[in-house]
Amino acid sequence: MTLHAPAPTTPHGGPSLPQERRLVTAIPGPASQALLARKSDAVARGVGMTMPVFVAAAGGGVIVDVDGNSLIDLGSGIAVTSVGNADPGVVAAASAQLEQFTHTCFTVTGYEGYVEVAEALNRLTPGDFAKRTALFNSGAEAVENAVKIARSATRRSTIVAFDHAYHGRTSLTMALTAKSMPYKRGFGPFGAEVHRAPMSYPFRDGLSGAEAARIAIERIERQVETDEIAAVIIEPIQGEGGFVVPADGFLPALGDWARSHGIVVIADEVQTGFARTGAMFASEHFGFEPDLVVTAKGLAGGLPLSAVTGRAEIMDAAHAGGLGGTYGGNPVACAAALAAIAAFEDGLVDRAREIEAIALERLLAAQAGDARIGDVRGRGAMLAIELVDPATGRPDADLTKRVAAAVHAQGVVLLTCGTDGNVVRLLPPLAIGDDLLREALDILCAAIADA
Ligand SMILES: *Cc1c(COP(=O)(O)O)cnc(C)c1O
Repeated sequence: MTLHAPAPTTPHGGPSLPQERRLVTAIPGPASQALLARKSDAVARGVGMTMPVFVAAAGGGVIVDVDGNSLIDLGSGIAVTSVGNADPGVVAAASAQLEQFTHTCFTVTGYEGYVEVAEALNRLTPGDFAKRTALFNSGAEAVENAVKIARSATRRSTIVAFDHAYHGRTSLTMALTAKSMPYKRGFGPFGAEVHRAPMSYPFRDGLSGAEAARIAIERIERQVETDEIAAVIIEPIQGEGGFVVPADGFLPALGDWARSHGIVVIADEVQTGFARTGAMFASEHFGFEPDLVVTAKGLAGGLPLSAVTGRAEIMDAAHAGGLGGTYGGNPVACAAALAAIAAFEDGLVDRAREIEAIALERLLAAQAGDARIGDVRGRGAMLAIELVDPATGRPDADLTKRVAAAVHAQGVVLLTCGTDGNVVRLLPPLAIGDDLLREALDILCAAIADA
């Protein structure tokens, strides 16, 4: 680590930012502290922050804060800036679109970018069948629309979601989300007609995919008649719930069962989508072919855009005018998405696998000497470690908090997750360099050893 004077001018983002960890103040520095004070006076308390820093620029694998600290980014703004922050291709495409027009509302007058994004998603999502796409703004909004579409296509109302699921913070998606704190407490009543099934969680249930699917299906059939179920919604690898990777066979068995009952299968790939897991979509790892795929986070390189893509006959069930919204498929976000998608198709799937190889080696070595690292799991650049009390095997949320705090203090942006708050997750931008990644892993492993 080198100590420099704070950068005299505001740095520009993108990959030209010096790719180094550089601490010039304690975290948070005085400029971030001043903004934190203004935040608590101006911003609703419910809007939290993982790290107490404010950002001046970001790019490649670093985030530069307003004090001139350069932090290693292992979060990508929660799996959003996979292509890299302020990626030059995304910036150029979005800037060019900004100069032409900023908005028309696609449902008033159309534009080609929206159609091009739909064509790209129809081509890239799993499943070799005719597809349609509709665009929205956020992951939660897209999940809501996937449910609307499934209900419209089946004329049924019930939705099945899973333990540890996270699908968003709107009224319906809170109902689908499993965890109360911080997402649901005090915010009910929630959307009705949601039933919950056990998720395949190999580290905890020790079951094969087939066994876990049988138990889940039994549980569902005990709660609700199958001919009342419109859809099952599942994250192929769970995000906020703890990066839970289901056992092989679980997802296809669930899909086969659902299809045999006329139930629409929705994959929520909001966090797993777009090269993140070392495949364009995580469903591909499991031979899972959903009817509808929901995407958002990585799609537009940091601009807000989300989508529902799926079987033409299901997508077209909703009547003309039944889907939409003022901003859905904003032209600037679409231009950014087309540039991001070009990058995902140009080597970023392989880059996610390289990141997996580098990180897994380091994390598995740490686990070999430390019984508190109960599980190392994930795919591609979506990896996690689950921390437990070795004596009891119970989740250790306290240890997880201490590890994250120690890592933050050393200038690494790191996120935790898990229903029990005991999972450290890695979501580096795919634009991060090997050296920065290794440095961040060293800091993380040392923090675990010292905690
Ligand atoms: C983040 C996330 C959502 C919600 O997306 P927002 O854009 O925050 O509304 C839904 N599902 C999954 C799997 C997510 O990770």
